Amino acid sequence: MTFTDLGLAEPLVRALSAKGYEAPTPIQRDSIPLLLDGRDLLGIAQTGTGKTAAFVLPSIQRLVAANKRALPMHCRMLVLAPTRELAGQIADSARAYGQFSKLRVATVFGGTSLHKNRTDVRPGVDILVATPGRLIDLVEQGALNLSMLEILVLDEADQMLDLGFIHALRTIVRMLPKKRQSLFFSATMPPAIRQLADQFLTDPATVSVVPQSTTAERVDQSVIFCNQTEKQALLTMLLSDMPVDRALVFTRTKHGADRVVKLLAGNGIASNAIHGNKSQPQRERALAAFRSGETPILVATDIAARGIDVSGVSHVFNFELPNVPEQYVHRIGRTARAGASGEAIAFCADDERPYLKDIEKLTRQKVPQRPLPEGFMARADALKAARVQAIGADPAPREDRQRGPRPPARPKATHQPVHTRNARPGGGGGGQSRGGNSGGGGGGARGGNRRPSRGRRPAAQA
Ligand code: AMP
Repeated sequence: MTFTDLGLAEPLVRALSAKGYEAPTPIQRDSIPLLLDGRDLLGIAQTGTGKTAAFVLPSIQRLVAANKRALPMHCRMLVLAPTRELAGQIADSARAYGQFSKLRVATVFGGTSLHKNRTDVRPGVDILVATPGRLIDLVEQGALNLSMLEILVLDEADQMLDLGFIHALRTIVRMLPKKRQSLFFSATMPPAIRQLADQFLTDPATVSVVPQSTTAERVDQSVIFCNQTEKQALLTMLLSDMPVDRALVFTRTKHGADRVVKLLAGNGIASNAIHGNKSQPQRERALAAFRSGETPILVATDIAARGIDVSGVSHVFNFELPNVPEQYVHRIGRTARAGASGEAIAFCADDERPYLKDIEKLTRQKVPQRPLPEGFMARADALKAARVQAIGADPAPREDRQRGPRPPARPKATHQPVHTRNARPGGGGGGQSRGGNSGGGGGGARGGNRRPSRGRRPAAQA
């Protein structure tokens, strides 16, 4: 099956060849003919399935075929996305797929200049990609009129709801003409999303590429039971030991993300954080450094990560497990994109066990347990000693110091403070184990059985 077989016109097929796409993905195969026919569509699909092209390609073709021009301060197609990152990426895809189709694409989202948004939409836009709040601002200020809209796309609807956009979406739907083509995408389809879909869609076709709430199959998942205070040493060791090309580290909160960046820096590992308190330029810089591989470790909150589309994410670390189990599915879906394989490792402290249970219930899979790295305790001590040496004070958090009896003689740091992400302090073995202090109580074989590497080049050479 080729893109031409699906009914796509030559300028689009040429643009796809330029992107190196050889064949349609399942969601593209199923959706494109329906959308070219003008049907409304309910798409149940995660990011990483190729859904952006699935909705952008036929829409471009229909916009071109209608042979109309966008009137000043009007748009012909509106794509609503929950985050600025996702909006930016959809717009980039629309520009790439439409490069031979001469359409005007613009984005409007919070955190950018409202004045620039007004200027961008003034001449009229064929494809406008927007976050809901900023879109409403523009319409209410009279800078944008949606009455001539031909196509509406609501992307990542479940995330829209999680972010509290429900009222904004209801406001927007009232601003739209009744006669239009509507597309609605969500990774999950709980009743609240279905209700929202009913408000937007008329007699939609349904396309589902992943059964609801099942976990991406290509992702090699595991969970390590540990204490909260052991997580930073654990992350440092895994980043050093594993063949990490690009790693996304997830925390539940913005503060948590900043703390992980600091802790990693203390262990000589450079990373960036991306979350809602970061300015747009900061986010863009962090993403660019991640994409280029300059800083291949990105610490993110769920919301900020939703728009991240980076191929080559080899590892997802759930530094903190999400309290909303669907987020786990979204998180691990950041790796293993577009046919690649990937690995997702969750760190589970005692108080997070209920979250793990919820995740396993949702995905209907038990996440396999993985032991702590070999010589974990000795290496953690060596890391701590290196930090002490570097900053001249014991940075151990209070809980850590209170955690059970220490062995009488703490091993002396035999190495310099780590300065690169590839350093392997503690040498990975030889130290004594603190044995039964597992906060997780998971019964994992501590200090042994490290998974064999899959033969990729180690991070030290990456
Ligand atoms: P999406 O689900 O839209 O976020 O797309 C996930 C990734 O797959 C993006 O990096 C796309 O560029 C890529 N992609 C989309 N369609 C194809 C295709 N037919 N062949 C290869 N890569 C694709």
